Amino acid sequence: MNDSFFLDTVALLKAKGLYREIHPASQLPSGRIEFDGKNCLNLSGNDYLGLSQHPALKEAARLAASRFGVGAGASRLITGNHRLYETLEEKAARFKGKEAALIFSSGYTANLGVLTALVEAGSPVFSDELNHASIIDGLKTARAQVYIYRHGDHRHLEQLIGESSREKRPVIVTDSVFSMDGDVAPLREIVEIKKRYGAFLVVDEAHATGVLGKGGRGAGEELQVEDSIDFSVGTFSKALGSYGAFVTGSRAAIDFLINRARSLIYTTALPPTVLAANQAALDMLIEGTAPIRKLQQNIKFVRDGLCSLGYRIPDTSSAIIPLMIGDNLKTTALSEALFEEGILAKAIRPPTVPEGSARIRITISAAHGRKDLKEALAAFVKCGRRLEIISDLHHQVSGKERRSENGNRYPGKADN
Ligand code: PMP
Repeated sequence: MNDSFFLDTVALLKAKGLYREIHPASQLPSGRIEFDGKNCLNLSGNDYLGLSQHPALKEAARLAASRFGVGAGASRLITGNHRLYETLEEKAARFKGKEAALIFSSGYTANLGVLTALVEAGSPVFSDELNHASIIDGLKTARAQVYIYRHGDHRHLEQLIGESSREKRPVIVTDSVFSMDGDVAPLREIVEIKKRYGAFLVVDEAHATGVLGKGGRGAGEELQVEDSIDFSVGTFSKALGSYGAFVTGSRAAIDFLINRARSLIYTTALPPTVLAANQAALDMLIEGTAPIRKLQQNIKFVRDGLCSLGYRIPDTSSAIIPLMIGDNLKTTALSEALFEEGILAKAIRPPTVPEGSARIRITISAAHGRKDLKEALAAFVKCGRRLEIISDLHHQVSGKERRSENGNRYPGKADN
């Protein structure tokens, strides 16, 4: 067998510093992780509410396994539609205050399914330049006529819609919280544009579900625009601790998806264990017992701490805090130094983010203990100073007074 194609490609990736490896890891309680055999504080996961280790979810999965087994056995439209789906969809619709919900196997397949169903070949779709890869792949698969608007720039969105031919109904699609920047889409302005041009609006609330809004329903709740979103995509894989996704909308919109979303139709249904764990997570959100306030307090604690140390941080309210460094090597060096100190905080470099905007993407969980977070801040001081990313001087300037060295796109700000 001739492996030269694979070997050459991998060698090229290594030469460019773009080679990726998968490391052994297992989640531990209290927002910690065993990574490469080392017990670390996990500042890189998406388990924002710490539910992946919650006794109620574990017990629900255990009971489901013993009653129903561990596999669905077929796709939902054949024989895999376990009755747990019905309750889960009813709970997801109730949670979001919508007529109906549809469960997908993952956030990735939900975005693929919604976009390929909704978008006819040639439909104009208006997509934020930093939208998640699953949205990009959905639009490619749908052979949509895609117009990319500048990140978070609703004026640019309106300009592009205004200039486009409107033979087919336009579609606007955006993440609500952007996964590498942690900022929130200007949904109020986007909703105005959607109404003016009669567009469909699809919002991916993957990183906002369980995080934003008093009820954890996401940015739509926080910005009070839930009624104007046609398809809202939420994931069970992040704050809700397990796996899978739900799309909510009108009964008619969901019936349409059941018939047209190929990523729902042609894949095996989720196992009963996952459906049961997801029900337990939604119950906590519906009953108001999920630790959303604790998460928001932890976010504020870390954000304020990092700002006062002199780190450059965009103005965001989500659980994703990007420490903007810029230089690729310095960013990697900081991530490695933090790992030595027992902190897992991964470097994110181009091409995942634009050239010159390498960063450490920190994520916060309600499961993190205050003592661990204090120790993490101490490690950020020690490593940041040693690598000359922050100086002693910054220590004396409050985060609120500080101005970004990166222009006003990433203003320093202590509160959220
Ligand atoms: N949307 C966004 C914004 C995401 O960040 C992700 C995953 N990182 C997904 C969708 C896909 O969700 P899942 O991991 O459940 O496939």
